[in-house]
Amino acid sequence: MSRYIEAKCKLCRRERVKLFLKGDRCLTDKCALERKKNTPGEVAKKIRKKLSGYAIQLREKQKVKRMYGVSERQFRKYYLTASRKKGVTGEILLQLLERRLDNVIYRLNFAPSRAAARQLVNHGHILVNGKRVNIPSYLVNENDQVSVREKSKTLDMINETITKSKAQTPDWLSLDLPKMSAKVVQLPQRYHIDADIREQLIIELYSK
Ligand code: SF4
Repeated sequence: MSRYIEAKCKLCRRERVKLFLKGDRCLTDKCALERKKNTPGEVAKKIRKKLSGYAIQLREKQKVKRMYGVSERQFRKYYLTASRKKGVTGEILLQLLERRLDNVIYRLNFAPSRAAARQLVNHGHILVNGKRVNIPSYLVNENDQVSVREKSKTLDMINETITKSKAQTPDWLSLDLPKMSAKVVQLPQRYHIDADIREQLIIELYSK
């Protein structure tokens, strides 16, 4: 998978929204976007710059793609899969992104960011139904059991994130924290995803 090599905060600045790419730092006033928000000229700049319909759709797609840390190719693949399924394409697209194993690990607060979660999965620290899965794009299913490998339960990164994180685990995951294990009780629904995403704009962009 291609990786972003530019500074992560630059991506947030580009999308003018917090994408939470740097873990703990994103929740502090050290966040580059928080610092920039109130600098003179920022408000005027926002008013001055009027985007075209296409540019608005493109920015929404880039925002979500960067939020979940997937490549353009993968993202389009998710769109194509979603468009072939019955139901609301935008919602299915978000559901596919949420079901990624790296996202699940992030949602369970086992890692401070999706990038860190991806690393945990890549390095073989995560089990699905008792078997090691080292593919971050693995899509979890209903009733899957996702857990931290026994040997990896002492990893500082996991324990520090569990201790520090204030984020709630979404309802579609039932977490057993002492066991560092969770069950997928249902597939994620649109109301479980609280990020400010206008998925319809993405669908309009790809439908052109
Ligand atoms: Fe984005 Fe986090 Fe950087 Fe803030 S600290 S700009 S949320 S990556």
